[in-house]
Amino acid sequence: MSTTFDVIVLGGGPGGYIAAERLGHAKKNVLLIEADALGGTCLNVGCIPTKALLNAAKTYEHAVHGAQLGVRVDGASVDWAELQKWKNKTVATLVGGVGAAEKKAGVTVVKGYGRFEGPGRVTVDGTTYTAEHVILATGSVPVMPPIPGAADNPRVLDSTGMLSVPEIPARLAVIGGGVIGLEFASLFAMLGSEVTVIEMLPEVVPFMDDELAAQLRKGLADIDVKLECRVTGIDGGTVHYETMSGTAESVDADVVLMAVGRRPAVAGWGAEDSGLEFSGKGVVVDDRMRTNLPNVWAVGDVTGRSLLAHAAYRMGEIAVANILDPEAFRRGEIMRWNTIPWAVYSNPEAAGIGLTEAQAKAKGIDAKSVTVPGYLSGRFVAEAGVKAPGAAKLIWDGATGQVLGIHVLGSYASEMIWGASVVLETELSITDLRQVVFPHPTVSELIREAAWAAQA
Ligand SMILES: Cc1cc2nc3c(=O)[nH]c(=O)nc-3n(C[C@H](O)[C@H](O)[C@H](O)COP(=O)(O)OP(=O)(O)OC[C@H]3O[C@@H](n4cnc5c(N)ncnc54)[C@H](O)[C@@H]3O)c2cc1C
Repeated sequence: MSTTFDVIVLGGGPGGYIAAERLGHAKKNVLLIEADALGGTCLNVGCIPTKALLNAAKTYEHAVHGAQLGVRVDGASVDWAELQKWKNKTVATLVGGVGAAEKKAGVTVVKGYGRFEGPGRVTVDGTTYTAEHVILATGSVPVMPPIPGAADNPRVLDSTGMLSVPEIPARLAVIGGGVIGLEFASLFAMLGSEVTVIEMLPEVVPFMDDELAAQLRKGLADIDVKLECRVTGIDGGTVHYETMSGTAESVDADVVLMAVGRRPAVAGWGAEDSGLEFSGKGVVVDDRMRTNLPNVWAVGDVTGRSLLAHAAYRMGEIAVANILDPEAFRRGEIMRWNTIPWAVYSNPEAAGIGLTEAQAKAKGIDAKSVTVPGYLSGRFVAEAGVKAPGAAKLIWDGATGQVLGIHVLGSYASEMIWGASVVLETELSITDLRQVVFPHPTVSELIREAAWAAQA
């Protein structure tokens, strides 16, 4: 096999594999190096396995709570081993799909841990590969804070361990009320675990608009959320924490999930010795995904700019566009960091894009906002009832009318938010949004309702 390529991609997660595939289709000679399994965190231990389990849990929940709709399921039960099989089968199918897609695109895949030696050079198992361009896409790793009693405690798991826990824990304590923490909390609460979430900050999901984050928290059925509580130590399955007023409290759990966040994987693969500009926050990139080194690009979680798979995809595409055509940025092929949507697949779901009300005001914008409840959507009421948690909030610039943020809480939030991405990408105003026809009955009509409520 030749060791000379047009482009070497280090890391086969969403950022790396999409870049390699797109370059392959553009007839570039590409090498993709992956130490573990293609698909990275997202496919193997992130987005996909969590959603496979969450959907199974929701199916169970529908069976248990179907009686209010007139559907009675006697003896509904969960077989955790079967759920695991479904999750593993789903992951295997999709990982196989990535392998097939790379092959179709003519990408050479090498399995092994790559070491970046500097511009144009990466070594794997003693072989040095060279290329005109290198794309760094090594992802991120879970943060394990130095909480006394956490290290080497078999009851303390990170998200990867939690996905394959041998049985559904009767009592689960989750340290961290961010996206990953709430998704696992919802999953296991739906499956019958007694769940406690301990969060240090005043509200869950810190980047979310305060108003909707508070509604989300209140809607997290059967989950005990402790805010402004700092974990001080873990003793077996007992999590000790201190409340805001300094009171020491504790919760007993069979399993403790450490979900305090992830950090860019910048150590171990050569960043330190290559002159690459990086910090604990990630590899420094511009909006074309260029690093400080010539023809060296970085995409995805390793940049620390957005730790989301779809952001990694887009960063990969931006790097590719600018590799293929150095003038691509003139056509708008740059990362627009303010138009990356996010979704939390908790129960209820939440999703959003753009500025929160507080962020808009902090920027000195004459920001206006309106929030409408979920029950204004006929479909929402027909499927969930008037009392279910749901809302849509719009934030716009009072001076220009331009929509700055769209935030949604409730069923289908993750599926409808792409429409909000179009609104922000194309810089629509609240008046433009009112003229868009939405299908009826859909939950997404809440966004339209909010636009009209803004005028009222
Ligand atoms: C539990 C969980 C749930 C998540 N859910 C969602 C979700 O619903 N939606 C969403 O958008 N995001 C989600 N994420 C985040 C998402 O997984 C990441 O944003 C995404 O995987 C980042 O892609 P990436 O390509 O940057 O890195 P990664 O997916 O982390 O891939 C990096 C790859 O590089 C490889 N690698 C690292 N160093 C080397 C080396 N030196 N040599 C060779 N290979 C190397 C690694 O083995 C890995 O496969 C979730 C994450 C977790 C943990």
